[in-house]
Amino acid sequence: MPHRRYNPLLRQWVLVSPQRTQRPWQGETSAAVSAAAIAYDPTCYLCPTNARMHGTHNPDYAGVFAFDNDFPALLPDEPPAGAPSGSPLLVAEPERGRCRVLCFHPNHSLTLARMSVPEIAAVVDAWAVETTAIGQLPYINHVQIFENRGAMMGASNPHPHCQIWATEHIPDEPLAELAAQQAYQEEQKSCLLCDYLAAELAQPEARLVVENEHWIALVPYWAVWPFETLVLPRRHLGDFPSLTAEERTGLAAILKAVTTRYDNLFQVSFPYTMGFHQRPTHGLSHEYMHFHAHFYPPLLRSAEIRKFMVGFEMLGQPQRDLTPETAAARLRAVAGKHYLD
Ligand SMILES: [Zn+2]
Ligand SMILES: [Zn+2]
Ligand SMILES: [Zn+2]
Repeated sequence: MPHRRYNPLLRQWVLVSPQRTQRPWQGETSAAVSAAAIAYDPTCYLCPTNARMHGTHNPDYAGVFAFDNDFPALLPDEPPAGAPSGSPLLVAEPERGRCRVLCFHPNHSLTLARMSVPEIAAVVDAWAVETTAIGQLPYINHVQIFENRGAMMGASNPHPHCQIWATEHIPDEPLAELAAQQAYQEEQKSCLLCDYLAAELAQPEARLVVENEHWIALVPYWAVWPFETLVLPRRHLGDFPSLTAEERTGLAAILKAVTTRYDNLFQVSFPYTMGFHQRPTHGLSHEYMHFHAHFYPPLLRSAEIRKFMVGFEMLGQPQRDLTPETAAARLRAVAGKHYLD
């Protein structure tokens, strides 16, 4: 029966309509498309030794490679104060920041799903190094690491890489989650996501996708995107630098496991936006903050048929037909070995 589910992290609701999965589909269906795999693309601005904009050449890097974005959305300079608008409803304020790009691997055709666990662990180490280095800048208070995978998600380049946007202010989404976690901590005297993890592990057949010694990946009870997942450390910790060496290797393994199952679902390089929420870097402990990753993949029923956030979703609230339990069962049911291996 139709019902709505509460997202305690954002304190919002999602409408779930499982009976609608029975409705006939007369729209487009499609077969999987496979892109030609080339290890080096002479026109790619992320491949080793190639020229980037403004004449810089990439080094002949062998592992990960990070650099300042050539077209940053944010700048480190103190901006001049703007003239007041004269209306309390026309509000702007300066925003400083840094934008970095991190290449995961020199091989142009790889993805997290096709990289080895040690190779992904090197990326996890780089995420920790970048968080510490950028977080130390006096004008930076939040470090957002995210990967846009696939043209469907607007990724401008297939070379395996992520972006790091560090800002003076905490952006709205992590700010809302921080506030919810703080309020929960004050009311319940425990951590929201530790308690959620315990509730999920009490019925692991419900929404669990994969797990290992240190990490859990599940379709959250309140998922909006069809195959959305939440990746949680079993231990309560707040950021990348807090991860032990074993937890970093474990995170690499769980990222490979999740992305492999995504690819296997429709036998395609599964598009998604993925990113990590970690505690702000302005020096306060934020003990209530539980580190995690969100995967937001758009695909619904095939390699090309995606879910659209339109209509009621734009005007009312998010809605889904496929239940999170069915989505988790389908992700559990596909092979743990990549279909191309
Ligand atoms: Zn490349
Ligand atoms: Zn916790
Ligand atoms: Zn989050």
